[in-house]
Order: sequence, then C-alpha cells, then structure tokens
Amino acid sequence: AKELGRSDWQLYSPLMDSAAYKSYHLEKGLRNALLQDEFFIEYQPKVHAQSGEIDSLEALIRWNHPEWGRVSPGDFIPLAEETNLIIDLGDWVLEHVCKQLQRWKKQGEKVVPVSVNVPSKRLLKRDFVEYVEKTLAKYEIQPSFIEFEITESSIIQHEEHVKKVMEELKKIGVTFALDDFGTGFSSLSHLKDLEFNVLKIDKTFVQNIGDKGKHQAITKSLLYLAHALDMKVIAEGVETTEQLDFLLQHDCPFIQGFIFSKPVGKEKIEEYLRVRFL
Ligand code: C2E
Ligand code: CA
Ligand code: CA
Ligand code: CA
Repeated sequence: AKELGRSDWQLYSPLMDSAAYKSYHLEKGLRNALLQDEFFIEYQPKVHAQSGEIDSLEALIRWNHPEWGRVSPGDFIPLAEETNLIIDLGDWVLEHVCKQLQRWKKQGEKVVPVSVNVPSKRLLKRDFVEYVEKTLAKYEIQPSFIEFEITESSIIQHEEHVKKVMEELKKIGVTFALDDFGTGFSSLSHLKDLEFNVLKIDKTFVQNIGDKGKHQAITKSLLYLAHALDMKVIAEGVETTEQLDFLLQHDCPFIQGFIFSKPVGKEKIEEYLRVRFL
C-alpha cells in the first residue's frame, strides 16, 4: 500500500459510507448553509374541501446545497434537532415567513394564514414567546396569521411546559395544530389537556385508506373525534381521488396533499391565491 502514489491514496474508503461520517459532513454543511443563504421556503396549500379555496399554507424548509443539490428535510431536520442548529433554523423560517406575509400584504395580494413547524426544543426555550411576539411586531403581522404545528411525539415529555407556552401565545391570537395526529399513543390525553385549534390526521392513515380495513376505521374515528370535540381537522398526504372521496364522505373539511399541490415557491402561491382548486 505504501507504493501508492500520493494522489491515489484515500480517494475512497468504505468508512466514508458510515452514518457517522455522513452526519459529520451534513452537520458541517448545515452550519454553513445558514451563513451562505442556502435555505428557502416552499408553501403547500391547505384547501377548503367544499369551496376549493386555499384556507392556509404550510411553510416547509428547503435546502439547496451548491454541490449536493437538494437535501431532503427528512435527512437534515432530525440532525438539526440533535444539535442546537434547529433553533437558528426554526427562527430563520419564522422570520422568513413573516417577511413574506408582509410583502404580500404590501403588494395587495390576498393573504392567508401560514403554519410553521416548531420542534419542542425551540418551543421550550425560555425566550420563545417573547421572540415570537417580537418577530410578529417587527413585520406587523397579526398573530392570527401564524399557526404553529407541533408533533404529538415531541410533546410527551414536556406536557406542562408546552401547555404554558401554548396558553400564552393563544392569548395573543396565534393558533396551534397537532401534527401527525394519530401516531403518538397518548393522543387522547393530549387532546384533553392541550387545547389545539387544529388536528392534522397523519398521512400514513390517509395513504392507506385504499387498503380498507384498519386504516379506514382509524381515519374515520379520528375525524369523528375531531368533530365531537368541535375541532378543526385536516387530512394531510392526500394523493388520490379515492382518498379524497373517502375523506369527503366522512366530512373532512380541509385537505392537504399532492392531489391539489406539492409544496411550491411563492410565485406559484400568488397564482393559486387568485383561483380556486376544485
Ligand atoms: P411534516 O410537518 O409532517 O410535513 C409534511 C410532509 O409531507 C412534507 O414533507 C410534505 O412535502 C409532504 N407531503 C405533503 N403532501 C403530500 C402528499 O400528498 N404525499 C406525500 N407523499 N407527501 C406529502 P417535507 O417537506 O419533506 O418535510 C418532511 C418533514 O420535515 C416535515 O413533516 C417536518 O417534520 C420537517 N420539516 C419540514 N420543514 C420544516 C421546517 O421548516 N421546520 C421544522 N422544524 N421541520 C420541518
Ligand atoms: Ca407539519
Ligand atoms: Ca405531518
Ligand atoms: Ca411528520
């Protein structure tokens, strides 16, 4: 091996495939990405099923790395959550969304509420409420135009604290959605103790509606539960007319999914806001 020329050695090592090696690079890339402005936002419409109008939007972060191309949030969000990067990243998203809302307002566009995903790690930081209030004020955004989506699984260990933060922000008019509803096993106790404005039925149920049996039964009972509790409910990940039909038959009032639109850039949203979907 000693004979290898300088340029040959270390070109490739199977170790480079290791998860640790990859996440090391990904993490370095992430830190750099914030500084280099490599993130952007796409918005996905949440559609009012009866009227076909856009009810609101979900902001989803996107990362375009100069060499790797698009990196999926499914790959970098979990990593960011392990480090404190998720805090800066989350703040970047809220700031960016508020800036966009302000721009739309100034352009005279129709403005709809936007939801932002917030991990419990951010929500539980001491300054969160103050930070949100400050940011909304800075861009002159009415709090009712911002909704935070929190996943069920992220709440479990910190229920009391999450409850307090939610109460403070709800007081000023910010709303909250329970994301991935149905996937955490203590759903019912959360519904009782934390007053979410919206339930988002997880896409794993929606996407398996075609299999009949259990997924249909679960989706139906999640809808029933939401109606009984007088809560706004939305199904996510709706892709097919079969899924849509089933949801409409069972009175699901709001739909999010590729059947209407993938997450898209702001220009496309501006077009959408001038038309109806159905
Ligand atoms: P999520 O919050 O559950 O977001 C919904 C995901 O489902 C998005 O994936 C969206 O593009 C995708 N989706 C929507 N409709 C359909 C459909 O009809 N079919 C299928 N197959 N997928 C659909 P995305 O954008 O890749 O995000 C994945 C996850 O990454 C999100 O899941 C969320 O947990 C996280 N994430 C994305 N953006 C942000 C962000 O700005 N902040 C934080 N903290 N997390 C984010
Ligand atoms: Ca979400
Ligand atoms: Ca979700
Ligand atoms: Ca999810």
